[in-house]
Amino acid sequence: MKSGLIDRYRDLLPVTDATPSVSLGEGSTPLVRSQSIGDSLGCKDLYFKLEGCNPTGSFKDRGMVMAIAKALEAGKKRIICASTGNTSAAAAAYGARYGLETLVLVPAGEIALGKLAQAMAYGARILAVNGSFDDALNAVRSIVEVMDIELVNSVNPYRIEGQKTGAFEIIDELGAAPDMLCIPVGNAGNITAYWKGFNEYQAMGRAETTPKMMGFQAAGAAPIVRGEPVLKPETIATAIRIGNPASWEKAEAARDESEGMIDMVDDNEIVDAYLRLAREEGIFCEPASSASVAGLIKLPELGVDLTGKTVVCILTGNGLKDPGTAEKRALVELEYVEPDIDSVMNLLNSGK
Ligand SMILES: *Cc1c(COP(=O)(O)O)cnc(C)c1O
Repeated sequence: MKSGLIDRYRDLLPVTDATPSVSLGEGSTPLVRSQSIGDSLGCKDLYFKLEGCNPTGSFKDRGMVMAIAKALEAGKKRIICASTGNTSAAAAAYGARYGLETLVLVPAGEIALGKLAQAMAYGARILAVNGSFDDALNAVRSIVEVMDIELVNSVNPYRIEGQKTGAFEIIDELGAAPDMLCIPVGNAGNITAYWKGFNEYQAMGRAETTPKMMGFQAAGAAPIVRGEPVLKPETIATAIRIGNPASWEKAEAARDESEGMIDMVDDNEIVDAYLRLAREEGIFCEPASSASVAGLIKLPELGVDLTGKTVVCILTGNGLKDPGTAEKRALVELEYVEPDIDSVMNLLNSGK
């Protein structure tokens, strides 16, 4: 029976005998070797970590399982988060399983359909706010000061603890740290968590080195790159449509300490990478996830030599989360046909 990441990494997480064992089978996600994009860039090895294979379809489950375990341990009955979609799906799933009332605040009209469907199905209470993700997070931070309700955004330190296990898995599987980690950056919790995980493994002697952390924001939502908050963040990659990241300074520390970089990719580059992943690699991730690969593809132009390098790209969420983008951007027309052999053969032979 597959157990979750708390069981797998118990000794490296802040759990005690009093921490309930919480799991939906999260973590231990596939690390799939690239068969096309890596070669085209001259990498020695390129791997994609398929975080969309987590139980609710994104890496948010790694942090949520820890946040929920600690909330239960503390006797909490209610949880709350602001979300661009995936955090609310994860909170709603674990909340449902462990009997916690779940309240999610989402920017009205800006959530990908699959994510909203999940929060609804899991039975969360959904407040659609007239504002951005950043406005929703500010509201949630004020609410938890006056209500007895557990905040499960990535400003909750247990979220970061759970998410650092992604770095452990990479080293456990490769036997060493990669040269570079490419990762999308939104609220910047995940880049913070990976950097923490890589450093902990190095300190324990389980890896000799740590990777350069290469973070990528969407050009319309790139506050860290531009050096100031973005008031109206805009991008097709809704999961990283964030104008004032909560873990801004920690992301900069990860960048600087690792001698990495945080740069940006525009929506066309994001969609190109999204389609290349699907069509050349057979991997369907959501647009925010492909920002990591769009960034990698751009690195040679930015003067970063990839020759002989081992690189891991974190593909943070499943493509099924956002069917609207596939419908609009994959540009495959349905071909209507009668269900008989002659009609099908005629169509295929019509030279279209
Ligand atoms: C949350 C999320 C991100 C951004 O992660 P941060 O920790 O906010 O930087 C990227 N991709 C997907 C699919 C996400 O759900």
